[in-house]
Amino acid sequence: MRASTPSTDREPDDGPGGRSPAPESLPGVLTVGRVPGVPVGLHWSVLVVVAGLSWLLAVGVLPAAAPGSTPVTIWLAAGGAGVLFVATIAAHELAHVIVAHRFGVDVRRVVLWAIGGVSEMAREPRGPRALAVVALAGPLVSAVLGGGFLALAALGHAEGWPAILPAVLGWLGSANVLLAVFNLLPAAPLDGGRVLQGLLWGLTGDRERARRASAAAGRVLGLLLVLLGAMLLWRGEWSGLWVAGIGWFISGTAATEQAGGRVVAALAGRTAADVAHPPDFVAQAGWTVQTLAAELRARPCRDAALLVVGLDGDPIGLVTIRDLTRVGADRRATTRVREAGRPLPPQRVVAPDTPLERLVRPGPVPGTDLLGVVVDHGRVTGLVTTTSVARLVELEALGAQDRS
Ligand SMILES: [Zn+2]
Repeated sequence: MRASTPSTDREPDDGPGGRSPAPESLPGVLTVGRVPGVPVGLHWSVLVVVAGLSWLLAVGVLPAAAPGSTPVTIWLAAGGAGVLFVATIAAHELAHVIVAHRFGVDVRRVVLWAIGGVSEMAREPRGPRALAVVALAGPLVSAVLGGGFLALAALGHAEGWPAILPAVLGWLGSANVLLAVFNLLPAAPLDGGRVLQGLLWGLTGDRERARRASAAAGRVLGLLLVLLGAMLLWRGEWSGLWVAGIGWFISGTAATEQAGGRVVAALAGRTAADVAHPPDFVAQAGWTVQTLAAELRARPCRDAALLVVGLDGDPIGLVTIRDLTRVGADRRATTRVREAGRPLPPQRVVAPDTPLERLVRPGPVPGTDLLGVVVDHGRVTGLVTTTSVARLVELEALGAQDRS
């Protein structure tokens, strides 16, 4: 439903050959296929949603809509409808992907979650028109699918199909129309928020102001939905819980986008070398855990995650004290640091002039505070951590106060 885009105007971080680097894996997400060349991941929470929707249909909707159907028919139809609904969410997301591709924006991955789909774009569309059109494509496909299902349902009624078919088609149609309308609400992070942002950007020429306005609209919409959900609950309608939950999510994401805008401004024009600091300590991959522990006791270091290098000095991994603790005392003399730590994804090893926002975007290496390792002429010259970036952002805010 929402297109997750980094907020920047920079060059796409194309790797060699113009392709984006492969995305790092997400916990709980299974890659189920690649359409068109973009990995599509399924988070386990989607299964919960399919089961929940199917149950809702089988118990609450279909028996009334198709009286006389056997329980087996009803449960089969409900299960099929749940799966089809997830497929329509995927279609919505793929519409974003295909149109983004048309505008020259690579999409790294599509992930389907309980709350909907997310397309991770390599960068934000470059112009206001591209931003609005890419955002519009998803709801448009949902609306067309919704209309198609409703038309089929009407045809089924008219032609006297078994009642269960028009019932399922009608539900799928309404659900997709609802999906289209909801996503078009003019508030970030919804698609309508991106459309609004594109329109304001086009009208005023001020991209940051457009982003702020659409994020502010998102916070207002989120709070309104939370209030609406509370009112529904007050009247004894449990659907209020769902409405309030979505409102909470929208409001939170919009707040993150507002903060993200400030971070982007602080990072603009900065490179990895600007915030990197030389590692306090470098661990050899071949050392035992015992040796490393002794070294650390002899000369304490401040880095939360220690860099692990191979024989040739190439950075190959990271290890934290917590990783060392996990190795049982009886195995510390035989376990190598390489085995105790975690591998360093190759896309985290960067040149000094790498734009900082490219390091910040994927977040730290899981379990550590490390964003990237700077290598200059084959030698490790520095580490970029969340702490050093946070300090830069704070210093920028301090500077902005001084100037105003
Ligand atoms: Zn969408």
